[in-house]
Amino acid sequence: MVEFQLLPRGSLGASDAEHVSVTPHLASRASVAVPVQPRDHISYSSINLFRQCSLRYFFKYVAGLPEEKTSASFVFGRAVHRAAEFHYRELLSGGEGSNLDTLLGEFQAGWDEQPPETITFPKTESRDSLGRLADRLLRAFLDSDLSRPVGRIIGIEEELRGRLIDGVPDLLARLDLMTETDDAITITDLKTARSAWSGQQADDSAEQLLLYGALVRRLIPHKPLRLEFMVATKTKEISITRHTVPFDQRRLDRTKRIVESVWRAIAAEHFFPSPSAMNCSTCPFRDPCRRWSG
Ligand code: SF4
Repeated sequence: MVEFQLLPRGSLGASDAEHVSVTPHLASRASVAVPVQPRDHISYSSINLFRQCSLRYFFKYVAGLPEEKTSASFVFGRAVHRAAEFHYRELLSGGEGSNLDTLLGEFQAGWDEQPPETITFPKTESRDSLGRLADRLLRAFLDSDLSRPVGRIIGIEEELRGRLIDGVPDLLARLDLMTETDDAITITDLKTARSAWSGQQADDSAEQLLLYGALVRRLIPHKPLRLEFMVATKTKEISITRHTVPFDQRRLDRTKRIVESVWRAIAAEHFFPSPSAMNCSTCPFRDPCRRWSG
């Protein structure tokens, strides 16, 4: 039985939508049209969203409500990803990499994918200030050794999927960068952050890389894995730092059990609001949340 696949890029379409069938009473409580399609995969971000606020998960992945507003921070991070991806593809094709102007062009193209009227800015930021920030950040990226990865590039924005847990749909992972040396495979996940990460923060975020590592280990079982975050801070003094996460089998097993519990809660339709300043300030579903009848 084939239970693991390396997918051609974009084979799942542009959307990461993960719809699930839902009972009629939930549909009426949400006052929305609910798509009824069998779920065939989950992503780490959807599991994480459920843990933050199960009702927000419901609106996004079950009810399929459109997100009318998107935070500037999200658009910025996505555009930086696009620029880094372009750079690594240049290296993969045997080139020297990119210069700053090219990367800024990629950033701009990534930014322009989002209709301007749908972007929400915090009071302290604007399109211009974020454009200047992108200039400094991409300059720092090019100056850092992370723009020149050690070893052979074997994957960029690679989609992997496979069943890691019995009774839970396939996990879909998108790996920012995968490289190979004689003695290890390295999986690198790029983050943009408002402040520098501590070791604790990297450790707290390790679950995502552990799950991705489990998928890669099935594909390449004979080599040790190295998991790392590459964190670009959006601070006055830009820093690009690398945080390594050990591939710890016990921690992976614990993470799998958490995913299984979350999936059980989703399947049992345990959806309720979890209001907090952190959760709600960036939530695109505040109006439907207010109308949610419980
Ligand atoms: S507004 Fe807050 S409580 Fe309501 S769905 Fe969004 S994150 Fe959850």
